[in-house]
Amino acid sequence: MYQDFQSHLQKELSAITEAGLYKNERIIVSPQQAAIKVNTGQEVINFCANNYLGLSNNPRLISAAKKALDERGYGMSSVRFICGTQDRHKELEKSISEFFGTEDAILYAACFDANGGVFEPLLGSQDAIISDSLNHASIIDGVRLCKAERYRYSNGDMEELEQCLQKAQGNRYRLIVTDGVFSMDGNVAPLDKIYELSKKCNAMIMVDESHSAGVVGKTGRGVTEQYSLRGQIEIITGTLGKAFGGAVGGFTTGRKEIIDLLRQRSRPYLFSNSIPPMVAAAGIEMFKMMSETSELQDRLHKNTEYFVGKMKEAGFDIKPTQSAICAVMLYDAKLSQDFASALLKEGIYVTGFYYPVVPQGQARIRVQLSAGHTQEHLDKGIAAFIKTGKELKLVK
Ligand SMILES: *Cc1c(COP(=O)(O)O)cnc(C)c1O
Repeated sequence: MYQDFQSHLQKELSAITEAGLYKNERIIVSPQQAAIKVNTGQEVINFCANNYLGLSNNPRLISAAKKALDERGYGMSSVRFICGTQDRHKELEKSISEFFGTEDAILYAACFDANGGVFEPLLGSQDAIISDSLNHASIIDGVRLCKAERYRYSNGDMEELEQCLQKAQGNRYRLIVTDGVFSMDGNVAPLDKIYELSKKCNAMIMVDESHSAGVVGKTGRGVTEQYSLRGQIEIITGTLGKAFGGAVGGFTTGRKEIIDLLRQRSRPYLFSNSIPPMVAAAGIEMFKMMSETSELQDRLHKNTEYFVGKMKEAGFDIKPTQSAICAVMLYDAKLSQDFASALLKEGIYVTGFYYPVVPQGQARIRVQLSAGHTQEHLDKGIAAFIKTGKELKLVK
């Protein structure tokens, strides 16, 4: 049997390679941070990590993790409800709900699991899920696992959302689902308008704050802070794998009864291991840092404003952004790859995205800014973009 299957797989793999879509992984041999070293020996400035607050290699988080490793051990060897809950897990859940101004929180191994386990326990075939067309893959998968009726509206299109809500008036409960920040463009979901429509059309809201938490809003509390809707949104999901230290872990936070029911019924919570004590402890320390100062958010916002401003000034075509994501539009797939390769030679590490990751003819380089970038890093990045842009005759 395997021989047949093997040749089938080999064909699939060649098709991926021929389409130029085969993903190779670059090997990093230093900690994750603004300046990294790759296995060719080259040192590059990293502009493609989700390390928005520069915390991936933060000494305070590392020492909190080490302390927990000594005091609470390495692993939990259990799911939460059997014998996988330490005081640290409960403290982290409390920190998360304090950060977002919500009633309770539940931890998962990843936000992929949080999204995979949020819909099925809460909604049934009489209900409706109304989802933004650009929502993350894990939301799409989570919705698939649930029997609720599905409606989809074009990214941020409030007229279409209202039409979906009208169509769903016959359903028992309605849940609008959106990413907080859409990762390919960097735009923020219009949560103020979504909230208005939810009131008008009697619906609930879920926001995935993976790319927005720690980033968006004056103190980085996410889109609910940006739109002054703290505590007003029924469900928020998010990750500890991006701005919040970048290790691993996800969460759902929101209304008390929702979290309570997820603890009873959410399958990735019930049937998957607890996060290690060191990750929980570093998470607690991270939220403590967040409550002490918004210095990192301030630096991130300043860095983003500076980078985007200089890039526009240089004549690059930049997607409107309200996050730490800066999409440099190149439109042509090959150009996006050539541009990224040329930048790498200049010591600037970015990724070019093209179809099917972004729509056909919308190829781009996605730059992700970080509070960990120094002025020198930013200036080197901008200079390399301008040099390459001139060589490729994209800017004057
Ligand atoms: C990254 C991301 C996830 C997945 O988070 P993990 O914790 O890495 O599984 C989920 N949703 C959105 C919107 C994301 O950007």
